[in-house]
Amino acid sequence: MKNLRKSLLLPIIGFISIQASGQDFLPPTLPWEGKSKSLIADPTDPWVTPGEITGLTESPSYEETMAWLEKLSESSPYIAINSIGVSEQGRAIQLVMVSKDQDFTAQELSTSKKPLILFQAGIHAGEIDGKDAGMMLLRDINVGEKLELLDYANLLFIPILNVDGHERKSEYGRVNQRGPKVMGWRTNANNLNLNRDYTKLETAGIKAIAQVINNYDPDLYVDIHVTDGADYQYDITYGFVETGGYSPEISSWLAEKFKPEVDQALKDQGHIPGPLLFAANGQDFTEGNIAFSFSPRFSHTYGDIRHLPAILIENHSLKPFEQRVLGTYVFLEQMIKSVGNHFDELQEAIASDRDQSMETVVVKFGFRDTPADSVEFLGVKSELVKSEITGNEYVDWKGEPTTQIVPSILMDKPVSSVPVPKAYWIPVEWAEVIQKWKCTG
Ligand SMILES: [Zn+2]
Repeated sequence: MKNLRKSLLLPIIGFISIQASGQDFLPPTLPWEGKSKSLIADPTDPWVTPGEITGLTESPSYEETMAWLEKLSESSPYIAINSIGVSEQGRAIQLVMVSKDQDFTAQELSTSKKPLILFQAGIHAGEIDGKDAGMMLLRDINVGEKLELLDYANLLFIPILNVDGHERKSEYGRVNQRGPKVMGWRTNANNLNLNRDYTKLETAGIKAIAQVINNYDPDLYVDIHVTDGADYQYDITYGFVETGGYSPEISSWLAEKFKPEVDQALKDQGHIPGPLLFAANGQDFTEGNIAFSFSPRFSHTYGDIRHLPAILIENHSLKPFEQRVLGTYVFLEQMIKSVGNHFDELQEAIASDRDQSMETVVVKFGFRDTPADSVEFLGVKSELVKSEITGNEYVDWKGEPTTQIVPSILMDKPVSSVPVPKAYWIPVEWAEVIQKWKCTG
């Protein structure tokens, strides 16, 4: 019996020691000293955010976040906070409205002459950068020196969408992510992934968002995540449906008007913006990057199918939390200016895409027969190493920048189409389906 105990204990001790130094297994960081560091408030500032107090190494809880935002709201005439739903565990999902004209109703915001931007953090609650960046930006707008940003646009900010996942927190919620110290969980309390739920509408979070989109009719929708997996130099990657989608004019506006300005702002502040990155071989980028065709169960493709300009931000998980939050701040600030500056063209693009008359609609896209192009890729050196534990090969990232030319693989070839129906006939007993249809606007 004693011997058995001993043999059981040893692997447990080994496991604990690996867990305690989990971050040591991450590849080396690339040195970074961006200008955007100057955005961080001094610890003596009465409006320093809970994240900034920790040097952007930690992120506040749901209660701390909402208490801080409530306090900001009480100190500024330009903010109002509303609950837009209740999570599976009973937490309020909060929407922060920011408007210099004090337009705080759906009616006022949807008919305002200013653009309306909806941005959300924490749909995957461990990927929380957008919450801390949004708090800093709202502070600078409302009690700092950036009130003029509200001349460009009205804002809707959801600091935490997956509120229950946010409170299911641990130091090991995302072991491949460099901070914050404690992070939330990917799925909701029922283990459903909110960013696969946009056309299923089974979660409180996505039902709430669908209603916000229906009621407020925003002009831009931004969903903020953090990547997992591969290493590269880019810190802020983002994208939208560029080809093979349902909103070609919106795609052009995003590519030609929006992206160049946001990329430049990020570069000016010391960040390295890049496209959404998915390694063709699932390991490194030697065989190219794939621009995947996602179904509308995802936020940005749901936006595309509704002709709502939509952007997916994926901050790079191997960059420190501080760098990711600051890059998100720079993105959001320039986003407000660019949408305001090009709003006429954006409205025309939205109207044009909404007015398309189509007899058939593509329901599935596949890979092109050949890569679209070759692109310059700001990678990190790596080698394949055989694992002594599994016997399989894994990628060992070396922390040394390298520039590669890699194939750009597009997934925009129509492979399946259906005629557009004149109407749908849904028998009354399918009440659940009817309810979901109502949610889709
Ligand atoms: Zn995510």
